[in-house]
Order: sequence, then structure tokens, then C-alpha cells
Amino acid sequence: MNTSIQTVPFTDIEAKQLVQNQRHFFNQNNTKSVDFRLEQLRKLKTLLLEHEDAMHDAIFKDFGKSKYENQLTEFFPLIDEINVAIKNLKKWIKPKNVATNILNFPAKSYLVPEPLGVSLVIGAWNFPYNLTLTPLVGSMAAGNTTILKPSELAQHTSAIMTKILNENFDSNYIHVIEGGIPETTALLNQRYDKIFFTGSPMVGKIVNKAAAEHLTNVTLELGGKNPAIFTKDAALKMSVKRMIWAKFVNSGQFCITTDYALVHKDIKDDFLKYAVEEIKKNNFSRDNHNYVQIINERNFDRVVNLIDPDKVFYGGNYNKNERYIEPTILHNVNLDDAVMQEEIFGPVLPIITYESLDEAFDIIKHFEKPLAAYLFSDSSAIKDRFLNEISFGSGAINDCVMQISNPNLPFGGVGHSGMGRYHGKYSFECFSHFKAILDKPTAIETNLKYYGYNEKKLKLVKLLS
Ligand code: NAD
Repeated sequence: MNTSIQTVPFTDIEAKQLVQNQRHFFNQNNTKSVDFRLEQLRKLKTLLLEHEDAMHDAIFKDFGKSKYENQLTEFFPLIDEINVAIKNLKKWIKPKNVATNILNFPAKSYLVPEPLGVSLVIGAWNFPYNLTLTPLVGSMAAGNTTILKPSELAQHTSAIMTKILNENFDSNYIHVIEGGIPETTALLNQRYDKIFFTGSPMVGKIVNKAAAEHLTNVTLELGGKNPAIFTKDAALKMSVKRMIWAKFVNSGQFCITTDYALVHKDIKDDFLKYAVEEIKKNNFSRDNHNYVQIINERNFDRVVNLIDPDKVFYGGNYNKNERYIEPTILHNVNLDDAVMQEEIFGPVLPIITYESLDEAFDIIKHFEKPLAAYLFSDSSAIKDRFLNEISFGSGAINDCVMQISNPNLPFGGVGHSGMGRYHGKYSFECFSHFKAILDKPTAIETNLKYYGYNEKKLKLVKLLS
């Protein structure tokens, strides 16, 4: 019995039909040949390039994101992801040989990648193109059909993705369903072969329950409170420069940005001085379209409520009509403050000072495992401790967020911040199953496994195992 999902009769029927049609299309082997996959990936790339201007306009309407920033953080990485898939697909799709143990000799052993079937991709709004279409690239490369559900909070980007995909692809292969909770609920009531979800841990649990109902393979790309540690020996000016850009790009609405900074008490004053200098240099301002808006009023109110006026070191101003929150630094923060009770997902940076590394690590361990963590330090011993003792999805040493821009590094969380990983070849793997095959010739056979068991045979099996 399905307990977690409410039914929505009309869209439920539509969703069921859509999934059935895609499953039929998949079962006819339409999506499996490498030629088909490459042709469709090239088509997707062409369509995106043709609609580039319209895509920039849509995201500007949604939350005032400039063309430059959209190209840098969404469009180019997405095109790059398609290029990587096109370039490598023939290699990825090949069976991967593994060694055969002596007991099975002579034989070949290999892994054969196969598509999972019908995929459902549910996206988040903060990088709406990337978070919806990058998983699509993986799903297509792996040979699946795909149903996409972009976030309803970024309505113009949701509409343009729907237009591009639904007008140009067979709905039995790729189809976008727009909408919020009712539509997602109707979709989640169906059985898929893969669900790929990006969003909050809270909704991640709903998705995971729905997937469990059908034992569907699921990837959850979630969030958390990401720490950035600044040690006494950090190259402070450069470290702060890198972290500040990463914190306030997209107005802090970035799942892997620094949520809070742990700063050694001896460098706090310099840290704050450099941080303010960097904020001013970046000129994060609505006037020059160099700073995006908060996505909606609900999130605006939520983030503003996390700013304790008594703890503002810099910023703290906001404008509700513009959904603008000034880059804000809070100092003298402790774990009881409101800002430390939830993922901030906005342009507010709390600073917590520490004296010993143990203390800093204890603070990180006080929270669920984060999606990302950053260490700014030149000490090899501290780097080793950081990598050894702290669990997180992905991270960087002496940088912030840039690990996401390397397609050779997988992207994903751990524990509460998610399960599964993607990007580049990891996206192909994420949407594939690798069949494990033992392939034997028939000319030769040993009789060890056959009846007529005796001590001599057993000794030989032991020797060969
Ligand atoms: P969200 O969980 O509110 O929404 C994500 C998707 O789930 C949307 O498409 C939405 O329509 C759908 N949804 C919302 N409520 C639902 C419900 N009750 N039932 C079914 N579907 C529902 O997340 P968001 O506000 O879009 O994004 C912010 C969160 O996502 C943050 O926690 C952030 O860290 C995380 N995030 C993670 C990544 C990542 O790659 N790991 C990327 C971006 C955002």
C-alpha cells in the first residue's frame, strides 16, 4: 500500500499513461543504439544553442540572473556536459573486462552497461537549467527515456525548457511535466526504473519513500550546512577572495557554497577585513545586474529572519520589493543562533571562531554530513586530518565550489546530503546498470563442481579459490 503519496485523479491518469508510453517505447529498443543516443544528444545541444537567448531572458525574469552569470554557471557547463558525453559515449558503452578467477578458467568476465528504462528527473530552481538538464544528458547517454519535472519556483525557465523539449522530442522518449506538489505527487505515484531528485532533504525523504514503493533505483542530490575552515596558516587574502565570490554568486542560493565559516580566533580580524574588501570589489548590486534576486517572497522572508541585527558585522540591509538581500556577514555567532538551525541558502555568512582544530571538527560533526566542505590551509597535516576525519559529499582545499566545474570529479552527497553521484562518466553510470557476465567457451570443462565429491577434489578447489 502506498502511504506517503496522496492521489490526484486527473494528473495521476495522465502520468500513468505517459510512463506506460515511455516504457513501451523503451521496450521496443528504440533508445539503445549508440547512433540514436549520439544523434539525440547532438540534437539537444543544437536546440539549446538555438534557444540560448530565450534561455537567458527566462532566467533573468525568474530571479534577475545576468547573461554573463548564466553562461558561466549554467549554460557553458551544460553544453560541456553534452560535449563530454558525445565524445566519450562509444568508450563508456563498451563492456568493461575484469579478471577471471582460476576456478572459472578458461572464461572471460566483463560488465555490460545497460540502460535502466524509464527515468524521472525532478529538478530544483537555483540552477534550473543545470539541475534539470544535466541529469537528462546522463539519462540520454545511458539510453533511457526521461520524464522531467523542473521546479515550479523558476517558472520562466520551467516554461522554456518545456517548450524546447516538448516541441522537439517524441514524448515517448523525453517529456517535461510542469507543476508543483500535485503534479510531482502524481508522477511519484508511478513506477520508474530510475528517479533522480535534486532538492531539500525533507522532500528527498518523500521521493525516497515513493521510490521504495516500487524498489526503484534512486539518486538524491540534497543539501546541508557546508563548513569552510580557515586555519591560522591559510593564505588568507586569496582564500577569502575565493570563498566570498562562491558565497555570494547566485545570492548564496547554491547548494555547495559555504554555509558558515569556521575561522581561527587569531585571524578573525584580518578575515573580516578581507571579506568586506572582497564584497565591495565584487560590487554585488542589483543596479549593475551583478547580483541575483532571492527566488520568491517565502525564501526572502525566511533568509531575512535568519539575520540577527545584533550580530551583523557587514550588510544586513534588504528590499522586499526587489527581493534583494545585501551580502551580509554575521559575527560572534554560536550554535544556538537561528542562522545555525537550518541550511541558509541565501547571502548570509555566519562566522564562528575556534581555538583548536578539534573544536572546529566537533562543530562540523554536530550537524548532519554536509554536501560540501572546504579547508583553507597550507598545512599537510591539517589537510590529512580534514580528509580523514570529516565526511562530506565533495569539497576543495584552498578553494570553494569549483570542484563542481571539473567533469572528471563526481558530484553528490553522503548521508543526509544525498546518495548517488553524477557528472561526466558518472552520469552515464548513474543511469546505467552494469550486468556482470561470466562468458565461457564450451570446449573445455573441469569436473570439480560435479557430483562425485571427494577430499582430493575439495583440496584442489581450495587451492584454486
Ligand atoms: P525542494 O525540495 O523544495 O524542491 C525540489 C523539487 O521537489 C521541486 O521540483 C518541487 O516541485 C518538488 N517538491 C517540493 N515539495 C514537494 C512535495 N511535498 N512532494 C513532491 N515534490 C515536491 O527544494 P528547492 O527549494 O527547489 O531547492 C533547495 C534545496 O535543494 C536546498 O536544500 C539545496 O541545498 C538543495 N539543492 C541541492 C542540490 C544538489 O545538487 N545536491 C542542488 C540544488 C539545490
